Amino acid sequence: MPHRVRQDTVIHRGECFCGSIKIEVMGNPEGMGYCHCGSCRSWSAAPVNAFTLWRADAVRVTAGAEHIGTSRKRRAAGANTAGSAAVT
Ligand SMILES: [Zn+2]
Repeated sequence: MPHRVRQDTVIHRGECFCGSIKIEVMGNPEGMGYCHCGSCRSWSAAPVNAFTLWRADAVRVTAGAEHIGTSRKRRAAGANTAGSAAVT
């Protein structure tokens, strides 16, 4: 359930499947959608992947930041940010 802190600011809370990483996002996503490209199907192990995109400054990791890693695929592409599931 979204949680309102001020009149105009909504905070959504989420966590990974095992619960060791928790995040909060503020406001509204920059984008959202569904994708069924080869990468999304492979990553989600599903025929379609639903996603939202957020500005980095709207996202806060509230627990388990040390568990966020880098995917091999992103390292191969020369990226140095955290895992592709959380950060694009
Ligand atoms: Zn895709």
